[in-house]
Amino acid sequence: MRSVRAMGAQSPRVLPALLRQMGTMVQLKEMGLFKSKGLIGDKWVDAEDGRTLPVTNPATGETLTSVPLMSGGDTQKAIAAASHAFTSWSMRTASDRSKLMRNWFNLLIENKDDLARLMVLEQGKPLAEAAGEIVYGASFVEFYAEEAKRVYGDLIPSPFAEKRMLVMKHPVGVVGAITPWNFPLAMITRKVAPALAAGCTAVVKPSELTPLTALAAAELALQAGIPPGVVNVVMGDSVGIGNALIDSTQVRKITFTGSTAVGKILMAGAGKTVKKVSLELGGNAPCIIFDDADLDIAVKGALAGKYRNSGQTCVCINRILVQDGIYDRFAEAFGQAVSGLRVGNGLEEGITQGPLINEAALDKVERHVEDAVSKGAKVLVGGKRHSLGRTFYEPTLLGNASDEMLIFREEVFGPVAPLVRFKTDEEAIKMANESEFGLAAYAFTENIARGWHVAESLEYGMVGLNEGLISTEVEPFGGTKQSGLGREGSKYGLDEYLEVKYVCLGNMKQPVV
Ligand code: ADP
Repeated sequence: MRSVRAMGAQSPRVLPALLRQMGTMVQLKEMGLFKSKGLIGDKWVDAEDGRTLPVTNPATGETLTSVPLMSGGDTQKAIAAASHAFTSWSMRTASDRSKLMRNWFNLLIENKDDLARLMVLEQGKPLAEAAGEIVYGASFVEFYAEEAKRVYGDLIPSPFAEKRMLVMKHPVGVVGAITPWNFPLAMITRKVAPALAAGCTAVVKPSELTPLTALAAAELALQAGIPPGVVNVVMGDSVGIGNALIDSTQVRKITFTGSTAVGKILMAGAGKTVKKVSLELGGNAPCIIFDDADLDIAVKGALAGKYRNSGQTCVCINRILVQDGIYDRFAEAFGQAVSGLRVGNGLEEGITQGPLINEAALDKVERHVEDAVSKGAKVLVGGKRHSLGRTFYEPTLLGNASDEMLIFREEVFGPVAPLVRFKTDEEAIKMANESEFGLAAYAFTENIARGWHVAESLEYGMVGLNEGLISTEVEPFGGTKQSGLGREGSKYGLDEYLEVKYVCLGNMKQPVV
């Protein structure tokens, strides 16, 4: 399939016909949600230098449309729009902001089918999973619409008779939100919803691989009555956009989900103007299956925790540590469950595994499997590219894995689970903690005391006990070590967008009694 850039060489008469043809691949009930320009204030805009970049369907390789390849200059305009909007948005009452956010939530849910379809087209996940993400993503908007009304201050008991001391909360200011492709909606709402609730405005940079869901969500924010400039969307040259956000003194906070490598660049850059930073970076989630685990619960939990989104989430199980006494039974039952997964285009009925996002992702998966096999792992299920070709990989289970393998140390970000055998609890905990990452961990046991001990011992920000799906809007999502800083979701997620201001009222004369 031709890229849009390649089509730039076509004659002017051929180009509109090709563009029409591309547009027909995206059929929505509300075609007004199919936006392919950036949003600055109330204007849908091209890049200032007119450059574009294609958006591709990972399942078919077809070009869906092209979006502006925006850069630093475009980003400065978006920052100016967000800065202008901040004055009035932050002055509105919390209940006002809450009502508009509630409208946005309602529109996201009303347009769930269209949003899910767009998401499948640009990201590849199965339609049911995409619809689930729309509900999950919208839940942050609903939750923070409610929390907006609960940003309380404090009155501090004063140690001095003539002084009164209090704490007010203020929005930090303009927020730069940079998000990845694996959750095209939820990673945005998880940042933008608490930002808006606190009174901040935002410049959002979705992944260039999945900008269409973000643009549709921004259109719905405008339809909901959220004033222009409160949410702006730019995409294109990620380094140019990132630098513009970092260098701006008007941007007071960077919130990022993505790779640890880019997170480190942003964190260092934010130091130049001492911005607040929230980072949700890579993981290397262990899942410990103890001898006394309920086999059915463990198989279902590990399956969901490993293979959803084809293994492309930062909380996806990366290593399954299985105790000696249950190893064979677990490997057998889990292998059967993995064999039952259905691979294909996410728009087709009954598909549970979509494509990987691109061929680079597939190459990485292949490299990890080859490395594991060369070091003694045994392929129990899958182990190669899927017959559908391109970006499809067979859901894979490896036995006899060890901590010497690449897959033990690095996030595979694909549908491959290695089983590592262990004997004692302490051995498992030590192996699980043997990582520079600390995002999510999982353990399966029917023994409460053992589960509690493991949860306390795991050096991770989140622990699923007898549960493979832990993310919701009401929990504090985030990691320790090099998995990040700060929390998203829950009451804790709002603090990331608030400044604390202490006010001391002095010389309060005591009334004469
Ligand atoms: P992934 O491997 O999940 O794509 P990345 O960290 O590369 O993770 O990308 C996450 C987000 O960060 C994307 O929106 C991407 O465009 C953006 N990004 C990548 N490099 C930079 C950078 N140097 N500055 C700012 N944003 C960046």
